[in-house]
Amino acid sequence: MDTMTAWQVDRPGPVATHPLRRVTLPVPRPSAGEVLVRVHTCAVCRTDLHLAEGDLPPRRRGTVPGHEIVGTVEALGADVTDPPVGTRVGVAWLRRTDGTCRYCRRGAENLCPDSKYTGWDADGGYAEYCVAPAAYVYRLPAAYSDEEVAPLLCAGIIGFRALRRAGLPPGGRLGVYGFGGSAHLAAQVALAEGATVHVVTRSAAARELALSLGAASASDTAPPEPLDSAILFAPVGTLVPPALAALDRGGTLAIAGIHLTDIPPLNYAEHLFQERKLASVTANTRADGREFLDIAARHRLRVTTTGYALADADRALADLAEDRFAGAAVLHCTP
Ligand SMILES: [Zn+2]
Ligand SMILES: [Zn+2]
Repeated sequence: MDTMTAWQVDRPGPVATHPLRRVTLPVPRPSAGEVLVRVHTCAVCRTDLHLAEGDLPPRRRGTVPGHEIVGTVEALGADVTDPPVGTRVGVAWLRRTDGTCRYCRRGAENLCPDSKYTGWDADGGYAEYCVAPAAYVYRLPAAYSDEEVAPLLCAGIIGFRALRRAGLPPGGRLGVYGFGGSAHLAAQVALAEGATVHVVTRSAAARELALSLGAASASDTAPPEPLDSAILFAPVGTLVPPALAALDRGGTLAIAGIHLTDIPPLNYAEHLFQERKLASVTANTRADGREFLDIAARHRLRVTTTGYALADADRALADLAEDRFAGAAVLHCTP
């Protein structure tokens, strides 16, 4: 095994122009501090779509996308002893940080200006193999299949960080605006921790899913009671004022997305006074990832997925662009 099948972002552009190209590449070799991972599955994230379509500018030519990677450690680079060969691991978006800046030193490595990202700064998991820094891969809860656990690595971890940024008090009332892959996982964590969850989404199917998971209400307009915390998952800035207005005194609204359309003007009395807070969410720390995967090991989360062959990665991306499947698309890369 010297070569492998992979997909590269060839020419970023609308998904209809086929920005991904299927190629044969040499199997990468792990450098010092890295592991070689045989990729079993890789979930397809909306960020992959942003990269393929050029909304996020490429950081290098011909990068292999994919940052929700599940695989087995096949070989170790110099200086690596852990995780050992044969371990099932996850490779996620945060690839490495400098470990020395003021943010890293205070435990906020998600804010590191020198951070690198899987599938953007380095080749990711739309491939049969990838390499990753050993210190940044995750051990995975055994109860989940390779297909189920893949979306936990971005949708799950980011949703979890958003939940923590929203500062939900024990037994509190949480509003969830938008109910896609990330939201439905964060909502399940909140429910497992005893929260009352109110979901606001235009999608009737998503409202049905929310209620089946245990949400107290699901509406296409507004929650039925004041909220201690809310998370905005929909990338829609016009939802910020009504979500702030729905907060109780002292409540927090966290915005989970990497993109948001413009926020209309706020009215201080209506939207912020009474110590309401507005927070953004930027990537995650490894501690977030480990804490979330520990919770997922203790509380079996329901993960909705649709499987695709690696050969159909471009179709999976096109289907994501058109919302043609339920849950997360997951590529099956090697047996
Ligand atoms: Zn740093
Ligand atoms: Zn992602």
